[in-house]
Amino acid sequence: MKGITVLGATGSIGVSTLDVVARHPDLYRVVALTANSNVEDLFLQCLQFHPDYAVMADEKSAQDLANRLKSKASYIQVLSGIDGLEEVSRLPEVDYVMAAIVGAAGLLPALSAVRAGKRLLLANKEALVVSGQLFMDEAEKYGAEVLPIDSEHNAIFQCMPPDYAKGFADVGVRSILLTASGGPFREMSAEELLQVTPEQACAHPNWSMGQKISVDSATMMNKGLEVIEACWLFHTQPDKIKVVLHPQSVIHSMVEYTDGSVLAQMGNPDMRTPIAHALAWPKRIESGVSSLNLFEIARLDFEAPDCQRFPCLSLAYQAIEQGGSAPAILNAANEIAVAAFLDKRIGFTAIPKIVESTLAMIPVVGAQNLSELLEVDAEARYVAEQQISALV
Ligand code: NAD
Ligand code: MG
Repeated sequence: MKGITVLGATGSIGVSTLDVVARHPDLYRVVALTANSNVEDLFLQCLQFHPDYAVMADEKSAQDLANRLKSKASYIQVLSGIDGLEEVSRLPEVDYVMAAIVGAAGLLPALSAVRAGKRLLLANKEALVVSGQLFMDEAEKYGAEVLPIDSEHNAIFQCMPPDYAKGFADVGVRSILLTASGGPFREMSAEELLQVTPEQACAHPNWSMGQKISVDSATMMNKGLEVIEACWLFHTQPDKIKVVLHPQSVIHSMVEYTDGSVLAQMGNPDMRTPIAHALAWPKRIESGVSSLNLFEIARLDFEAPDCQRFPCLSLAYQAIEQGGSAPAILNAANEIAVAAFLDKRIGFTAIPKIVESTLAMIPVVGAQNLSELLEVDAEARYVAEQQISALV
């Protein structure tokens, strides 16, 4: 029986995780559930999963939740704030931590799990983008297993040889082919992109996801963040990662070997597959995902990405090539720009502009330790916000 903390339990990944966990009451026990401010959903999840702890990042919401749980489930300890999130990520009775908070807000709890040597199921790609080197060094130091939940990285993990950490040349890997659906605006002209709304951006053709990652998919920043994520997870360089548009989202990514073999992982686009894979690894369990119907799919298409219309992808390649604090600046500026787009303060095509100018305005430094990285993150948010205010 493995004890689990689900960080970001009320989100898209959190809900899918609990769906898989509920199918295996003999294998997994929920120790802690966390959310930002959605009291109603976390309350209902508490009644269903009976965790020992429930954490709300927002203090006032934690009060509300504690009041509601008093009569129904007083045995649940309610904690709050970043301290609470860090605490439930390192509890001795916790074996696995699902990191499914969105954005850099998830970094500290994910690091807390890593430093406690847990198995970390990593959905929160922004945490790794901000702190890549530090995160991977800490995972090695504390013996934490970092298993990818992002469907592409989970696919790559499944297609890689087991000893890939030795380096691509040693294990006969030539490159990673990172697939991308292209998002809802793949076929739009540059002019049409000027007019798109948050509602359109959040209506992804193949996946149902949180708002922030939906916008990132529409700008292709999601793929950029995933290139950076793949560099860290698979100990490789950006020139070994090729992005391939594949609108059907049936192949979740591929690994190309030196002998010309290309291994792909396929399946219906449903996050319960990578979640179940990482929960059970190296075994396999039921996930609730139906069989892939190849006759219905009939064909698989591939295209090259267009970095003219979707400049976020090249900005991310530039940031990881530059290294140091550049990916943290890219991520912070993007989080601020996406929030402003969702609030209808800026247009869709302003997102890459804000990211590009923030990167140009802040000098890139080595940024080895956590406090330096958090400072860079805060500075980039401030600079990006200034530019948005100047625009509106
Ligand atoms: P979501 O918006 O649906 O859920 C986010 C969760 O994080 C919620 O539970 C929310 O309460 C919590 N949260 C938000 N801000 C917080 C804060 N400041 N402090 C503490 N908790 C906070 O997001 P999602 O789509 O589930 O994505 C979560 C992460 O997984 C993201 O990093 C995303 O890139 C990654 N991911 C998601 C998918 C997907 O299919 N949704 C696929 C791959 C990767
Ligand atoms: Mg992905």
